[in-house]
Amino acid sequence: MPRGRHLTLQTGSIQRVTLRLFNSLGRRVEDFTPATDGVVRLYSCGPTVYSYAHIGNLRAYTFADTLRRALLWKGLRVEHVINITDVGHAVAEAELGEDKLEVAAARERRSVEEIAAMYTEAFFTDLASLNILPAHHYPRATQYVEQMIAFAERLVERGFTYEIESGLYFDTSKDPTYGQLGLIDVSGQLEGARVEEVPGRQAKTDFALWRAEAPGQLRAMRWNSPWGWGAPGWHLECSVMSMLLLGEHFDIHTGGVDHRQLHHVNEIAQSEAYLGDGQPWVKFWLHNEFLQLGSAKISKSSGHILTVSDLAKQGFHPLAYRLFLLGGHYRAQLEFTLAGLDSAQSTLRRLVRRTSALGELPLVTTADEARAAAGDDAAAVAVIDQIDDAISADLNTPRVLALLQDSLRDQTLSEAGQRAVVAACAAVLGLPFGQLTPADLEQASDLPEVDEAAVEQLVADREAARVARDWARADALRAELTELGIQVTDTADGPTWTRLG
Ligand code: AMP
Ligand code: ZN
Repeated sequence: MPRGRHLTLQTGSIQRVTLRLFNSLGRRVEDFTPATDGVVRLYSCGPTVYSYAHIGNLRAYTFADTLRRALLWKGLRVEHVINITDVGHAVAEAELGEDKLEVAAARERRSVEEIAAMYTEAFFTDLASLNILPAHHYPRATQYVEQMIAFAERLVERGFTYEIESGLYFDTSKDPTYGQLGLIDVSGQLEGARVEEVPGRQAKTDFALWRAEAPGQLRAMRWNSPWGWGAPGWHLECSVMSMLLLGEHFDIHTGGVDHRQLHHVNEIAQSEAYLGDGQPWVKFWLHNEFLQLGSAKISKSSGHILTVSDLAKQGFHPLAYRLFLLGGHYRAQLEFTLAGLDSAQSTLRRLVRRTSALGELPLVTTADEARAAAGDDAAAVAVIDQIDDAISADLNTPRVLALLQDSLRDQTLSEAGQRAVVAACAAVLGLPFGQLTPADLEQASDLPEVDEAAVEQLVADREAARVARDWARADALRAELTELGIQVTDTADGPTWTRLG
């Protein structure tokens, strides 16, 4: 696609609607146009690997994955970076004091490297369990410290910094547009008491580019720099790694909504100061709302962590959690409850049962492929158009789920049409229908309550059908029993049954 050309004009494609996304920069829904040649360059702020990712964190990556799948659906290529913060995230908001990794290493009596390796691995396992497409790059902050120092040096040369005892700071007063993304009232922040005092810091919005070691302190992770031994600031790492891997300007930056107030505001300030070309650094900023866990806060730092493996231990398949998330719009807060997850798991079970009965699904990633797979089934093409409308309207996944459920009940669709619709929904939602089997979900779940009398009756009916040589009925009854989690074995003494588990 030629540079800057509009999505709807893609040659050879039958795109009907343009992808529209809510841009936090300006707080409005806008047409999305990638900057270069149909390749969307996407950066998602990654985890600080000092503990397991909680289910709220995973909402952020499931959202980024939904966005990526929507871009692919539109026929675009995507280059995706998710960073791994293995240094730089201080415990305190003012970025003084210890690094989160160092605290975790001391707590768990391991080295910082071991902590980072262990939780990075766990993060990848979580992503895979949620069927999140792997990023093309997972840069580790510790591998880019030299480049971070060079970046900060350029900011020094350009006069955007000052040095105090605790390190090198970005001078936000030099940036007339500071805080635009967060709609931050800088004057309010200057007087606000929320942020801790840092001796010598000129404004509460100023942030550390380099966190110098205090006299006598010896950090577990330390590098030498023009501002003494120490470690880089957290905001700096995302600017540096994203620019190195995706180019100085790129298309989309994502993160949780908390980043809109501070982390992303600071990333923008330092990056635009560094580039100095008067252009917005990144055009689209997308933020997912938070997952709420009732009154129990799910934050890694508060110690209340609920992980996908906790959910699995309680009998929930990770993809039931994905479906639960997709049932809400990414920009709406979502209240997590086990009852809600349980109902998502029931829905997933139903969907998998229905979709696996359809047989092999066509391979579909894009809207065009889905339309082609629907062939001459006009009703199915119409549903695919509606899926396209929904996902193009700022990623309306609840609507796509509703369309999927409706179309599985729709008797007017041909089998091929239904398969095309299911494959389209699988592509957009990242729920691997066609690969998931009812047994996958049974294994994941607690054994359901069984009505023993009903099971006995079904077993007896099946036996009667066998005696009458009505094999079709016997097989249908066996299938019904399997759905209930019951396995029947025929013995010389007649059938016995056990619960699958
Ligand atoms: P962290 O590892 O703390 O840097 O967070 C990783 C990602 O999870 C960031 O994009 C956060 O904004 C996001 N995040 C943190 N808590 C939640 C939550 N409760 N719901 C949704 N996203 C969250
Ligand atoms: Zn970041």
